[in-house]
Amino acid sequence: MTRLAGIPWSDAAAAVGGGEWWALLPIGSTEAHGPHLPLSSDVVIAEAMADGAAARLAAAGRRALVLPPLAYGVTECAHDFFGTLSITPATLTALIVDLARSLARHGCKRLALCNAHLEPDHRAALKSAAAAATAAGLPTLFPDIVRRANAARLGAEFQSGACHAGAYESSIVLAARPELVRDDLRVGLPENPISIGAALAAGKKTFKEAGGADAYFGAPAAASAMAGRELIAMLGAIVAEAMLVPT
Ligand SMILES: [Zn+2]
Repeated sequence: MTRLAGIPWSDAAAAVGGGEWWALLPIGSTEAHGPHLPLSSDVVIAEAMADGAAARLAAAGRRALVLPPLAYGVTECAHDFFGTLSITPATLTALIVDLARSLARHGCKRLALCNAHLEPDHRAALKSAAAAATAAGLPTLFPDIVRRANAARLGAEFQSGACHAGAYESSIVLAARPELVRDDLRVGLPENPISIGAALAAGKKTFKEAGGADAYFGAPAAASAMAGRELIAMLGAIVAEAMLVPT
């Protein structure tokens, strides 16, 4: 795969070769992820998802570039924890539509939002952004991994909704950026089986209200890099399959 941010413009131009090309935008957040994962966890996961998708698209004969990631999202639920930063839905949507217009000027024909931050208001903003960017001229997809058919491919913990800095996310960060994981802490953390997804749906507003006093839900100690590699491949497949559907 080709990450746009890591190469000179001339190499990027050569990578698309003057022909049709697609873009993958990793979208994460700067958000507390337990005592063992970095604030950048969702960015790491989103980039791994986009890299995985780019590899699959290349195998299918498509030229796709991975854009520099968005490190900020609508991140209110964890705002009680220091370092967690949030932007408004309107700002997030406007930024994506602006980027889509700029990509279209360079001949990009399709954009996918590769999102790893699962807060409902954030995902709602991305859904609006995809519609607005498409209306502005660049067909834009948001393959939401929380949707039932996608979630079913990401394991029992993910499906349970107890999946913030638990086994699912810890495994992916262990696979993609192991040097960022405090593994000595991770292995000793007790499982927190509360579903953050269900708690938010029931009206809770914050991680602390929902029962995540340590900013994690799920089972961090059950994570492994091997599981993370499988999850990254699955995330890439979800995005690539959505992009390969003819519009
Ligand atoms: Zn996360």
